[in-house]
Amino acid sequence: MFALKSGVVKQKQFATNLLKWFKSHKRDFRWRRETDPYRILVAEKLLQQTTFGHVRKVYGEFLKKYPDIETLAEADVKDIERTIKPLGFHRQRAAQFKKMASSMVAAHGGKVPQKREDLLRLNGIGDYVANAVLCFAFNKDEPIVDMNVRRVVRRYFFWKQLNDEEIRERLRPLIPKNNAREFNWGIIDFSSLICSRKPKCKICFLNDLCSYFNKQLRGK
Ligand code: SF4
Repeated sequence: MFALKSGVVKQKQFATNLLKWFKSHKRDFRWRRETDPYRILVAEKLLQQTTFGHVRKVYGEFLKKYPDIETLAEADVKDIERTIKPLGFHRQRAAQFKKMASSMVAAHGGKVPQKREDLLRLNGIGDYVANAVLCFAFNKDEPIVDMNVRRVVRRYFFWKQLNDEEIRERLRPLIPKNNAREFNWGIIDFSSLICSRKPKCKICFLNDLCSYFNKQLRGK
């Protein structure tokens, strides 16, 4: 019975089933194959409030023009604006990129810092990008929380009242050791392909224990 399933079982099944699903359904994006922290940071900054399709169009050109942090720090901000114009918010983002790169040159020897507090001090870096860089660039077991992740956990776990920090605290223990990349990408892809705005609950491999499916649709 759904009601009798313990929270621990539910959490364990979430991580286990998600990773299993991700192995055969993961989406391939160029930035997911990157290992250089700078290139990963650029991708995460570009991905904010933007679709994957739009980022695909400018990511290659951005890296060609600004292949490292020093080049970006010295770049003409108007040129950065032109490069990222298709993404929107280009003036604000271009200024952030330049300031961010300048700070990394001045304070971190032209490298992406590996500490959360240092990342958060950079211009235009918030909790999401900081954790994404820690996870995808430095393989730290850190959860990321954006609107896609929020949607999934609010439905599946019924964590409706939790803020982002509380969601991160609850997700962190669910991450399989040294596998935060697949865990985080798995939630993002699952959110896009199955637990989307109009969720495909009937074909969802998590529906047995999902709060939303069981309470809202089955009335349990
Ligand atoms: Fe999302 Fe539906 Fe799956 Fe629940 S059963 S996790 S609401 S797709």
